[in-house]
Amino acid sequence: MALEPCRDCKTDISTRARICPHCGLNRPHDLAIQHWLNAVAKHCCIWGVLLTVLAIILL
Ligand SMILES: [Zn+2]
Repeated sequence: MALEPCRDCKTDISTRARICPHCGLNRPHDLAIQHWLNAVAKHCCIWGVLLTVLAIILL
């Protein structure tokens, strides 16, 4: 059984737990992954904009 920290209270809990037994947070892992994916998507978006601006300046 794998343990990962809750995104809210950072207590190690089972990855299969739907609710954190310490702080009662719903889906303590799922949203952390979603937040990470959003951060990656945002980062990629910023680089896409920078490359587009650079291409416009150079052309
Ligand atoms: Zn928690």
